[in-house]
Parts: sequence; structure tokens; C-alpha cells
Amino acid sequence: MQALKILNKARIRNISIGNLVDIIDTVNLMANLNPAKSDKIKVINAEGSYYEIGHTIGRKTRLQIQQILHSKSYDENQSVIDNEYNDFLKYIEPYPFIVDELRGMADGSGTDFESIVRLNIVELDRERNIQFDCSSFIIKKDNTDILAHSEDGLEGDDIFLLRATYPSGTEILSFCYYGSLVGISASLNSHGFIMSCNLVLSNDNQPGEPKRVFSRRLVECKTIDEALDIVKTARRCQGQHYIFKQFDRTVGVEASATRVQSREIAHNYYHCNNYIFPEMKKYEADAGYVKKLNIRTLEAEGNYQSLSDLKGVKEVLSSHKNHPNCFCTHGSEKGNYSKTLGSIYFDCIKKQIWIGYGPTCRIELECIPFSHPW
Ligand SMILES: [Zn+2]
Repeated sequence: MQALKILNKARIRNISIGNLVDIIDTVNLMANLNPAKSDKIKVINAEGSYYEIGHTIGRKTRLQIQQILHSKSYDENQSVIDNEYNDFLKYIEPYPFIVDELRGMADGSGTDFESIVRLNIVELDRERNIQFDCSSFIIKKDNTDILAHSEDGLEGDDIFLLRATYPSGTEILSFCYYGSLVGISASLNSHGFIMSCNLVLSNDNQPGEPKRVFSRRLVECKTIDEALDIVKTARRCQGQHYIFKQFDRTVGVEASATRVQSREIAHNYYHCNNYIFPEMKKYEADAGYVKKLNIRTLEAEGNYQSLSDLKGVKEVLSSHKNHPNCFCTHGSEKGNYSKTLGSIYFDCIKKQIWIGYGPTCRIELECIPFSHPW
């Protein structure tokens, strides 16, 4: 009914097919803006040049991007980086494919390039809160090899699932934030390379590549070694934790702005938003945060060594123990600061990818296909 009203206003006789597609997209976007109206994650398919892929994403997420650009939290973040925009831009310009993707996203969403770039250099000095971000598990036992990742964001955040084929021929499947470059959640590509990320805040921030930029450079990697090389050689302005996984090999990576440590993972592993490698702990930006965050880490430690299957790790990620500093969060609805936006489970033995949209305690996992070996 809503669609008909909008179509009537647009005077059906005078609109082109292209406009009609845009209008239908817009109606669908309006329906998806309220998560209560949809229990399925939005899926976007894109292919072509980097500009065209960015444009497709921008066009299909126009309302969400406009909503972010007019939000209070965007204004607050922007005041932090107001004087630093040009400093950061020069670390994006060396990557023309990223500039093209951002330009496409800007044009597709009907906004300007600078606004989109600004969305991708956020999180430099933002306020830190407990139970703020994501959890990643590796479950490695006899006959079990699973990467599980839950994506936690702010109250107004949301994610979609992108299937894209880049000019390199690499196909990807990725959880994505609206308005953001690909690569800051969990992704799989047609080379069998899987990555997941966790925010960590380091005390050695410097002018350099924002994490959304060096993370985007990882998305099309053919090997773990290629990804490690990118992280190690990037002039990073901030830190990030990654799990890289490809066939039998799994690597955990902790980066600050100036240092990177990686280690092979042969057993169960858990990571959230603090440095856990001994040589990296001195780069932690906020020891008080870590002390409180450890409630969650300790709960994980009590559980994760014995975890042996997907059902078990999903149960941990559904936990409300130690509320509000718990794994599964619901935003203001249940007094949490953050909100679990979705989760993804790569079962590397059964070759199944399961995804859920929304807080883990209430999701039904959906198995999604991927047509390349991984
Ligand atoms: Zn819950």
C-alpha cells in the first residue's frame, strides 16, 4: 500500500524504468529501516567496477546513509575529526580502488564524497564504553573447526550482507555497516580466505590509515600471508584485532598503530576488545576498561576451552550473564549500551555458513550458500 501511494505521487506515466527501480528500492529500504519489520538481514548483490559496486551499495542503502549523516552521533564523531580530515584523506588517496568505491557510494546515495569519507575515518577518539563491540571464537577440536563472530554495534547501527564480485574476479560475502567500507566485521572470499575483526583501542594512535581503509585492503586477499603483510606494512593510525582463517590455517593478529603481533591458533581461542598477547598489553588505551571488560573475558574463559560445537558457541553468545556487560545485547530495550546486530558461523569442516540477524538469543540461524571452495 505504501508503495502504491509513493508510485501515485511519482505520476507513474512519467517515470523511467530506472526511476521505478529506485522508487521500489526506496520503499523496500523504508520497510527495512525499522528492524522490527524485518527479521531477515538485507542482502545486496553488486558487481562491476569498484565505482559501480560502491554506487550499487550507495543506491540500495541511500536512506540508511542519509539517516546516519543526519544523526546526533555522526555530529559528535565529526567534531572530533573536523580538523583532521585532510590529514587522513592523504592516507586514502594512495588506493584508487578505495577512492572509486567511496565516490560510487557517495554518488549512489546522493551525498558528497567528503561526507562518505568522514564516515570512514570515525572511531579515532570516541568515547569508550563497556560491552561495546564484537566477540570472535575459534572452536578447534577433533573434527571441529569453527569461526564464530557476533557483531555488536551502537543502538542506531545496522548491518547488511554484501555479495560482491570485484574487478579482480574475487567474490566476497561480508557483513557490512551502512556507509562503511567493507572489511570491519566478518568476510569470506572466493580464495577461501576468512577474516573477522574486533575493535581494540591502542594508546599509540598516529596520523595514518584509518582501520576501515587497511581492513578494506584485506578483503580480497588470496592468502593469509598477503593479509599479514598488509597489516604489518600499513602506516596504521589505530589498532585492530583480526582472525585470519584459510583452510587448515588460523592466525590471530593484534595490531596497535605502531606494532603488530600474530600467532598461529591450534586450539580454542576467544577475543573481544582488549589486547591479550603479553607483548601487546602495554598498548591498551584504557586499563580501567579492560578490568571491567574482563568480566566478559572471564566468562568466556570459563566456557570456551570446553566448547566443541556450533550449538555450544551460539549458547555462549546468547548469554545475558553479568548483564549489562554480557555477550548478547539488546540496546536500550534491555538496558545495554550496545546491540548485537548479527552473528556469523563458518563451519570449516561441514562447509556451512550460518548467519543470524539481531540479538543472538532470539535468532534462528540460516544456512547460506557460497559457491567457491573454502
Ligand atoms: Zn539476548
